[in-house]
Amino acid sequence: MLLNKIEDVRTEVEKYRKSGLKVGLVPTMGALHEGHLSLIKKAKETCDKVVVSVFVNPIQFGPSEDFDKYPRTLEADTELCNKEGVDIVFAPTPKEMYGEGNRLSNDTLTYVCPPFFYVNKLCGKTRTGHFDGVCTVVMKLFNIVQPDCAFFGQKDAQQVIIIKKMVNDLNIPIQIIQCPIVREESGLALSSRNKYLTEEGKKDALVLSEILNNIKLCYQKGITDVSALKETAYSFLTDKHELEYLELMDRDTLEEKTSADDNTIALIACRVQGVRLIDNVYLK
Ligand code: AMP
Repeated sequence: MLLNKIEDVRTEVEKYRKSGLKVGLVPTMGALHEGHLSLIKKAKETCDKVVVSVFVNPIQFGPSEDFDKYPRTLEADTELCNKEGVDIVFAPTPKEMYGEGNRLSNDTLTYVCPPFFYVNKLCGKTRTGHFDGVCTVVMKLFNIVQPDCAFFGQKDAQQVIIIKKMVNDLNIPIQIIQCPIVREESGLALSSRNKYLTEEGKKDALVLSEILNNIKLCYQKGITDVSALKETAYSFLTDKHELEYLELMDRDTLEEKTSADDNTIALIACRVQGVRLIDNVYLK
């Protein structure tokens, strides 16, 4: 069922909880693809009832980012969710989530701000305030739905690490389940933003997974020096690619590595045709 109101979601989920059913939440911004569906499938396996939220969250977009043009395909999303046996699609308006007349800023609204150590790197470096927006909306969704489990993709590795940190630091009684990255056969990680790319752009975008796979291969061959591993990327880049970052970090704590080990994650952000794409890989 498609619900837009917080109160209606609360009422419905309350019924599930009273019947002792285990509730799973899959937060999304919609334009659903197989990556999202893998989270939904995992939620269906793990829980009795599944809520999928579809909300393009204004407060996690910077002023020059793609909030207005972000793909919105609620009808198709609802259909897909129905096919997967999702119990509730929660698609609120920004007004429903943040109230009437509120200026969307931490001047007037309570924000949940994750620690600086986790946000002053990778995507947080260029997307100022992004993870405050993410944690705030996720916290709100947690409070509205009060699920037993919530499902997030490794695709947004920094995000899931930050959510786990928030859950731990704020004693939130919700189990966070991380799901692997779903890719096209070509290797391109699925993303709603791939819709912005032409066919040629999609080919150029393969550079992200190629660079990451090559780093993993080099690590498996015995190269551990992070500078040397990063060096291997440059031969893949052309003038079609605008590299934003390539980092090797601890996959749990986001501490920077100088020497890679089995707990290392390689993360990349790169613009192709002006579209900002991200990807990552565990070296083991
Ligand atoms: P989004 O709609 O982009 O906010 O994503 C909603 C959730 O789906 C997040 O937890 C993402 O990490 C996850 N997700 C997005 N793309 C993929 C993918 N290719 N594979 C697995 N999970 C994904």
